[in-house]
Amino acid sequence: MGLFIEKIQKAERIYVTHRELSFDYVGETNWGFAFELDENGNLDFEALELPAQENLLACFSEDNPLGVEYKGINEWEHSYWQSAIGICKHCGAEVYLSDPMDNDCECGAIYNMSGQEVRCHARDVDYLDAGEVW
Ligand SMILES: [Zn+2]
Repeated sequence: MGLFIEKIQKAERIYVTHRELSFDYVGETNWGFAFELDENGNLDFEALELPAQENLLACFSEDNPLGVEYKGINEWEHSYWQSAIGICKHCGAEVYLSDPMDNDCECGAIYNMSGQEVRCHARDVDYLDAGEVW
C-alpha cells in the first residue's frame, strides 16, 4: 500500500440555504412567482432573465397587472455530500475520491476514498500489448 496523497478538498456534507421572494396569484397558494435571493438575502436584478425582470417589476407594480400578492420569503435548506479531491502523486492531476476503493487517475493510479494508493500507476506495457484491460 502506498502513501496517502495530498488533498486539496476534504470530504464533507455541504449545507445550502435557498431564499426566494414569493408572490402568489390572489386567492392561490404556491402558484405565482418566485425570485431567488443570494446568500445575503439580496436580489440580483441584473442576473435575472429578461422575462423574470419584467415579472418582478410587475409584481411590485402598484396597479398589480399580474393579480398577485406578496407572500414573504420562502426559505429551505438542502445538503449534499462533497467528495474529497486529491492530487495524484505521480502526475499531479486532481482525483475525485468518491468511490470507497476505485478512484482512477488519468495516469492509471488508483486511490481509495481515503486517498491511499491501492494500485501502482505504472502499467505494464506487456499487459497492454496482450490486450488485457485493467
Ligand atoms: Zn495520476
